[in-house]
Amino acid sequence: MKYLVKMYISLIESLGIYTTDQLYELISTKQHGMPISRHRAAVMQSRVFFFSVIFAVLVPAWSVIDILYLPQALWSELLLIRLLAAASFAVIAWQTRREPDLMLARMLLAAMLAITPLFYLLSDQIIADQQLGGTATILAEVYALLPFVMVAGLTLFPLAISEFLSYAVPIFLVVVYSVYPENPAEIAEAVSTLWLLILLLGVGLFASMTQLRYMLSQVSHASYDILTGMLSRRAGIEILELQFRLALMSEKPLSILYFDLDNFKAINDTYGHDTGDTVLRVASQQIRDTVRKGDSVIRWGGEEFIVVLPTADHKEANDVITRIMLAGLGNRPDGSPVTASIGIAEVQQDRLKDWKSQVELADHRMYTAKSNGRARCIGVGGQSTEWVTALEQSAGF
Ligand code: GH3
Ligand code: MG
Ligand code: MG
Repeated sequence: MKYLVKMYISLIESLGIYTTDQLYELISTKQHGMPISRHRAAVMQSRVFFFSVIFAVLVPAWSVIDILYLPQALWSELLLIRLLAAASFAVIAWQTRREPDLMLARMLLAAMLAITPLFYLLSDQIIADQQLGGTATILAEVYALLPFVMVAGLTLFPLAISEFLSYAVPIFLVVVYSVYPENPAEIAEAVSTLWLLILLLGVGLFASMTQLRYMLSQVSHASYDILTGMLSRRAGIEILELQFRLALMSEKPLSILYFDLDNFKAINDTYGHDTGDTVLRVASQQIRDTVRKGDSVIRWGGEEFIVVLPTADHKEANDVITRIMLAGLGNRPDGSPVTASIGIAEVQQDRLKDWKSQVELADHRMYTAKSNGRARCIGVGGQSTEWVTALEQSAGF
């Protein structure tokens, strides 16, 4: 029992799991932020590219051995399948050059993994139909190793448990189908093949999770601000660039909100920097809790934040502002509510040409809000919304 506990602890430590959030991140990708998803997509696509190119070359190259050792009727059939498989690998390799996208990366990996078992099932069928002896039997056994090659391939991808299983289960079922014993004499072989496969899948799962864990910690250091948990400016720029491009391409709206906390310096000056930090942390938590999952909250600098609202037009952006105002940004040490001056800019309505001018415009409107008396938001078209707290609203202001 003690030994089991020790093993469990060392497993948890080697995967770097110290909180339930960290565990959940390894099980499912639902809570992964945009930086990790994009980075993972880019890595997965480049690895799929690498594998597909190698397979596109190696699979038809094997025909030389088929031709040398197999009867012509057999190798010519296999050659056809091999060329088909090579062409599919080439198409997949080509597709990996597209913009990193997690859905695309997952589909390309699935396609890459599917080709080999399909190829294996087809050739297994063809080889089983023939009465083979000697070298040809050895060749048939080489084909039986292909699913193991695919599991080895899976090992090189940073995947969450749920993703790994969705790839591993079909591979497993294909192998179960192909080794399914037809008579009692075949049971031992089937069991040993499946045992080996399960062992490799276990090792593969561990390797995938370790890579994901490492990537999560690397990306979170590079992409998130430690104090507020918001995206860092660097990661934010990537998102602003990407979302701007997507908005132009899809002709959908994209709003950004530029926040600057009001009279923040006075908190530092009166109560000290640590109190200032706490106020910043609470304000950023409030904003993050109020926006949608697909929105991004960036610490643009000091006490200035940018919220990116994909597909939101200026009306929806105003709704978000109202929600944030009502939820509040926490209180100042003297008990009064923390407020901000906010500027909105929207790609379509403001006819913006690049993300920088969108940020500049939102910043400019934020300054207008400051000079108009702070605690307000200047929206598209210059209309002003004054800060309203939940208390004021319920009092009927
Ligand atoms: P305004 O309403 O005009 O924006 O007034 P302000 O006092 O907020 O203006 P200003 O931009 O001059 O002040 C920002 C202050 O935020 C200055 C800086 O010391 C402080 N600050 C920036 N980053 C941090 C931080 O990480 N922690 C703390 N405690 N203060 C910070
Ligand atoms: Mg400022
Ligand atoms: Mg300020």
